[in-house]
Amino acid sequence: MSTYLPPIDDIVEALDLVGLDELAALGAYPEADATTVRDLLDGFGRFAADVLAPTDRVGDREGAHLDPATGAVTLPDPIAKAYRRYVDAGWGAVAFPPGHGGGGMPRLVGTAMTEILTSANLALSLNPVLTQSAIELLAQWGDEAQQARYLPRLVTGEWTGTMNLTEPDAGSDLGAIRTTAEPGDDGAWRVTGTKIFITWGEHDLADNIVHLVLARTPGAPPGTKGISLFLVPKVLDPDGAARPNAVRCTALEHKLGIHASPTCVMVFDGAEGELVGELHGGMRAMFTMMNAARLAIAVQGLATGEVSGQQATSFARERRQGRAPGAEPGTASPIIEHPDVARMLLDIRASTRAMRLVLYLTAQQTGVAAHHPDADRRAAAQARVDLLTPIGKAWCTDTGFRLASEAVQVHGGMGYVEETGIAQRLRDSRIAPIYEGTNGIQAIDLVTRKLARDDGAAVHELLADISATVAEAAEGGPELGRTAVVLAGAVHALRTATAWMLDAGRATPANALVGATAYTELCGITVGGWLLTRRALAAASTDRAAEAATDATVFAVEVLSSAPGLASRATAGAAHLSPI
Ligand SMILES: Cc1cc2nc3c(=O)[nH]c(=O)nc-3n(C[C@H](O)[C@H](O)[C@H](O)COP(=O)(O)OP(=O)(O)OC[C@H]3O[C@@H](n4cnc5c(N)ncnc54)[C@H](O)[C@@H]3O)c2cc1C
Repeated sequence: MSTYLPPIDDIVEALDLVGLDELAALGAYPEADATTVRDLLDGFGRFAADVLAPTDRVGDREGAHLDPATGAVTLPDPIAKAYRRYVDAGWGAVAFPPGHGGGGMPRLVGTAMTEILTSANLALSLNPVLTQSAIELLAQWGDEAQQARYLPRLVTGEWTGTMNLTEPDAGSDLGAIRTTAEPGDDGAWRVTGTKIFITWGEHDLADNIVHLVLARTPGAPPGTKGISLFLVPKVLDPDGAARPNAVRCTALEHKLGIHASPTCVMVFDGAEGELVGELHGGMRAMFTMMNAARLAIAVQGLATGEVSGQQATSFARERRQGRAPGAEPGTASPIIEHPDVARMLLDIRASTRAMRLVLYLTAQQTGVAAHHPDADRRAAAQARVDLLTPIGKAWCTDTGFRLASEAVQVHGGMGYVEETGIAQRLRDSRIAPIYEGTNGIQAIDLVTRKLARDDGAAVHELLADISATVAEAAEGGPELGRTAVVLAGAVHALRTATAWMLDAGRATPANALVGATAYTELCGITVGGWLLTRRALAAASTDRAAEAATDATVFAVEVLSSAPGLASRATAGAAHLSPI
């Protein structure tokens, strides 16, 4: 039986708050009205709970298997069957344009579906997530013929996509990649090299796998400027002779978590490929895929918080231990009544809801950036997406792991053994701060590019919006007033740290680089606190008012109160560092 209950009311409330209606009014998403979206999410929630979530434990226990003789990778049968049902039902196609065979929903709705999918089975979710990111890339950078050949079956999920960047000596620094692509006599390129850590690089869930591979062509300039992007299918001429391409999985990694997601060493041995986008324009094109995937990986933090909270709360209702304040003498209280346990559970709930709002807002803004009739509004939305992407990826994935750890703590000793399943949440969520650009790299991207490129203008726009909410909340009664004070402190801390980053960071780059992680966390908690406060204001006269106010207060006390300390860390400079 599944233990995951899709929080459809919470999801719909978040969609509403970040502006699903604004997207529906743009004309580009005629189906995205509130009723249709709710029905869709109800249906997908049932599917995820009944079909996908029950495969989560078996996937963790059995993992993926490689046959070294053939290079074939197989998944446990329940996983393969669940994926087929996902494809047959057409769930993967929902958030793509009808022109490519999709259902025409915005990425915001797609992000809500990714949350549900990831909560049900994080390891399996990586397969559709990478496929969907590959679709984004091909929709933007593929030529007409490539789009016609590959998009329809990627959109249905009959074929899946992979991202081939990492090599043994090229991880965070992709400029160091050595895989080559040489022009062949037949007009195709021949790709040769070894890629490591390739998620779902080989498997038996789909008829074809579309590898998107970064490689270097003869005479290309060094570094990232000389990288091109190639599409290398596992099966060539799939509708004709169906020849296997010269690409093979030679090993699977044994990992801490996400056991049902095969992490492959892929050897390309003169594999036939086609150039996607411009020669030497590979990094630019791949960033389309990476940015889509970064948002989806950030959702792993949110999903981890959601399922960890559900499991920990139900455990804490059952488990009795000690006497809670005010309880009858002689009886053991459910641990949920102990103030310290209640604190942890409320922190998980509030932080999870904050993450949901941050990531849904980012997704909503991608729709505004693409389709708003006013060019200034499009540009402002894109600036916000660019800013929130590294913040969301780093803050949400770190927070997801923190919340999984807190949920383990709620379980006591039962959290450390595998029986309850909460240990899997901790193991599965640990990768998210590492892949898709480590959180250290996200922080550096934020301070050296996103912040520096417009002299902090996008951050100041954000701070202005947050300050408006502070002013509104200050008038909203004692509980919201208390939150407003903490949020105002965070705004001050972020404004100070931003000025310092632009100033000291420019003067001495090491100063900005050493403070970048603390700065990114400061941004994350401030945006999270802002959106929870907006939610509390919006819910003020509804039946969710008390819960929304509690979430905002808990987040202010437990999380946002650390803003001044983070600002101190962000602005400490590099002078205290010494060789280790
Ligand atoms: C389970 C799993 C799945 C993966 N899936 C894929 C996939 O599908 N496709 C793919 O291409 N890759 C994939 N990866 C690879 C992943 O993206 C890389 O592991 C990640 O980008 C980090 O690279 P690295 O492991 O080489 O670490 P390194 O780059 O060696 O980094 C090690 C540490 O040094 C830090 N560091 C490195 N450079 C800097 C710098 N300039 N400044 C400050 N700190 C720095 C990092 O933040 C990190 O803390 C996957 C990895 C795993 C484990």
